[in-house]
Amino acid sequence: MIHLDGSTGEGGGQILRTALGLSLVTGQPFSITNIRASRKKPGLMRQHLTAVRAAAEIGDADLSGDAIGSSTLSFIPKALRGGNYSFSIGTAGSCTLVFQAILPGLLMADKPTELVIEGGTHNPHAPPFDFLTRTFLPLIARMGVKVDAQLVRPGFFPAGGGKVAFSISPTSTLKPIELLDLPETTTTAQAVSSKLPEHIGRRELQTIQSKLHLNDNQLENLQLDSYGPGNVVSIFVESKMLTETFTGFGEKNVSAEKVAMRVARQAGHYLETGAPVGPYLADQLLIPMALAGSGCFRTGSPSNHTLTNISTIQNFIDVHFDVSEKADKSYEIRVFK
Ligand code: ATP
Repeated sequence: MIHLDGSTGEGGGQILRTALGLSLVTGQPFSITNIRASRKKPGLMRQHLTAVRAAAEIGDADLSGDAIGSSTLSFIPKALRGGNYSFSIGTAGSCTLVFQAILPGLLMADKPTELVIEGGTHNPHAPPFDFLTRTFLPLIARMGVKVDAQLVRPGFFPAGGGKVAFSISPTSTLKPIELLDLPETTTTAQAVSSKLPEHIGRRELQTIQSKLHLNDNQLENLQLDSYGPGNVVSIFVESKMLTETFTGFGEKNVSAEKVAMRVARQAGHYLETGAPVGPYLADQLLIPMALAGSGCFRTGSPSNHTLTNISTIQNFIDVHFDVSEKADKSYEIRVFK
């Protein structure tokens, strides 16, 4: 049994999600204490509990500690089964974080999976749906696993009610990838709003247009339909190597211009740095690369999430990570056996 302390490093939900995913893949049971000890409301919240129960169903696992607010958990998987699954968080908790927890298992399951997750689809502090489909999943496809994701209905905080349908065709071995250079890029921006006036998205896009010098044909203002109001604005930086996605989340009492400036700054910083992998993608690539047994990427200064994920992964998989600073102040992260 692997024992983890959830208060180490970042001290958030990612330690748990990584453990669930890698326990499913490797069949190694784990226990964890101090779950999310560094968060304002520590312990298992609805989204984490949904991830735990989802992983338990996929892995036919014995569980203890699976209750709201619990700060300890033990997870003993007995199988790994693809198939048809449906999970509902019951709040606006992030669908994509539940997906993040179970994906490693489903990537390497015995058969394909059809999966539906209901909850939030565009949450702050979680991968937004478009990040998943434009940035993360195309890279997973290059590693040999086709994952299709359809946004059935968006879900924004606090109403939730979003729904995503996934189809996953698994593999027994993942192919390594290298993401070291950022070739010539094209930038586009998209505002998505629901039950909010059209001018919010328009003002966000105008702000991004003037900050990043984009043409009108590089902008898209979409209205979708969800249970409650919500708005996000995304900037996509596309190159031959990958597409990076940066997202600003509309907030009450924060102007559309301010939301747009925040995300324009993130994208501007990415373009200046010239490293192909942004800070969020960096922590999310570590598991698939570790499962492939090798791979490397160049990114900015590694986040606490990235460093914490590296040490959590090494509890389950026998791989090494080399994190080295380059002359241009970017970092190269290399995974090897
Ligand atoms: P906690 O519930 O403990 O507060 P959490 O479960 O929300 O934390 P974190 O441990 O903070 O999760 O991890 C958040 C995950 O979401 C990370 O993998 C991070 O890369 C990803 N993420 C956060 N914001 C974005 C974003 N804007 N775009 C893409 N991915 C994101």
